[in-house]
Amino acid sequence: MSDTRETRGELVGDGCGQQHYISLVSEIISQQTAEAGRLPGVYIMTFGCQQNEADSERLAGVAEAMGYVMVDRPEEASLIIANTCAVREHAEQKALSHIGRLKHIKKENPAAVIVACGCMTAQEHRQNELKQRYPYVDIVLGSSGWQRLPELLYRRLSGERRLFCLDDGGAVPENLPVRREFSYKAWLPVMYGCDNYCSYCIVPYVRGREQSRRPEDILAEARELVGNGCRDITLLGQNVNSYGRDLGTGYDFAQLISDISAIEGDFRLRFMTSHPKDATRRLVDALAKSDKAARHFHLPLQSGSDKILKAMNRRYNRANYLDTVAYIRERMPDIALTSDIIVGFPGETDEDFEDTLDIIRRVRFDMIFSFVFSPRRGTPAADMDNQVPGEVKTQRYLALVELQNAISEEINKRFQGSVVRVLCDGPSKTDKSMYGGRTSGNKIVYYPGEQADIGNFVNVKVERTEAFALYGTKTGEPAADNR
Ligand code: SF4
Repeated sequence: MSDTRETRGELVGDGCGQQHYISLVSEIISQQTAEAGRLPGVYIMTFGCQQNEADSERLAGVAEAMGYVMVDRPEEASLIIANTCAVREHAEQKALSHIGRLKHIKKENPAAVIVACGCMTAQEHRQNELKQRYPYVDIVLGSSGWQRLPELLYRRLSGERRLFCLDDGGAVPENLPVRREFSYKAWLPVMYGCDNYCSYCIVPYVRGREQSRRPEDILAEARELVGNGCRDITLLGQNVNSYGRDLGTGYDFAQLISDISAIEGDFRLRFMTSHPKDATRRLVDALAKSDKAARHFHLPLQSGSDKILKAMNRRYNRANYLDTVAYIRERMPDIALTSDIIVGFPGETDEDFEDTLDIIRRVRFDMIFSFVFSPRRGTPAADMDNQVPGEVKTQRYLALVELQNAISEEINKRFQGSVVRVLCDGPSKTDKSMYGGRTSGNKIVYYPGEQADIGNFVNVKVERTEAFALYGTKTGEPAADNR
């Protein structure tokens, strides 16, 4: 008998029968627990972006509902899940290397079930590779991992052979449990997939077409979060600005922002990631009116050259982008703007790069995330023949970082002496006496703090600033911005 390769449609007609499988797996786990005298452990490795982190919280919730308890080491687990990333070749190699290390665990404990899911394993060639070269991996499925785990686990535990499933864009199940890493801040996925096909990006190929969650499901989850004391909610999606388009009801992201903002409570509302072509005035107006929306807008530019934006298939140009920024600043003068920039995209000349530097100087972002273009197999940009030499990419990257650091430093100096409201995350990794948190504008702030601050808003008087952080001490004075 060969290993099983199936699609969602063949497994569960409506894609949403997972509660039934949770009960079936729970029965098996109860039996195993009675025999072993202890609860089985689940260990989850998460690679990649915030969407994967959110998916892992859902994987953990589903695993707990089936009777597993979270453990800190794979050696202690009966269920090991690798939630992989495909954004770059390097990310895939990293995930494969971690999966490779599980071989000895399977040898020690043949009953352990090993699952690989996420964006990397949504690609057929990677599934084939895992099938042939990683025989100890039991279940391989794509980015719908958390949505289908109970069903596939049940089948494996019931004696079926290894299972390989490619995503087929079926319905996203609702009401499955979530085990959140933090109580005071939360990811809240509003949609899955992407329809944009930027020429450098693998996401539409591995996460499928856009699927928006129903507003009532999102609002119910947001209300529950706020009711449980959550103070910072980040709405997640590959392109949140196009939220709702596939629902066909006219309900859009601006409406979602307004409706979540109407929930009573002291919380901040964030979102990521935006696409400039879909960042409408209606959305900006909704943000400006909201007393919950954080004063931070991450608007990935990617390049300041119209020629390169076209080659990237971004579907906006310099002028549109600058118009959007001008309107955001007109409606919210205190907003912090951040962006993503890719340097060295195929065909990028010195003039194109100059256009990027020019737009950075004009907009003066609070911060940017800069990336050196690396060809991603399976995307059109990987096959473009005018690739930029490595040393040129490095030089441009360094020039970009130098310019941006100087701008960030100047912008942050403005906070010197002011009082900012910080949601405390806890002690810094390098100095346990210093606690860190974020402002509404997403600035990182460090101050001498205490355990009780974690998860709470604290006012901090800024005494020193750097390009990447503000430093100060707690104060009873009111913050200039009370968000
Ligand atoms: S908008 Fe473009 S870059 Fe963002 S996920 Fe979609 S295809 Fe990728």
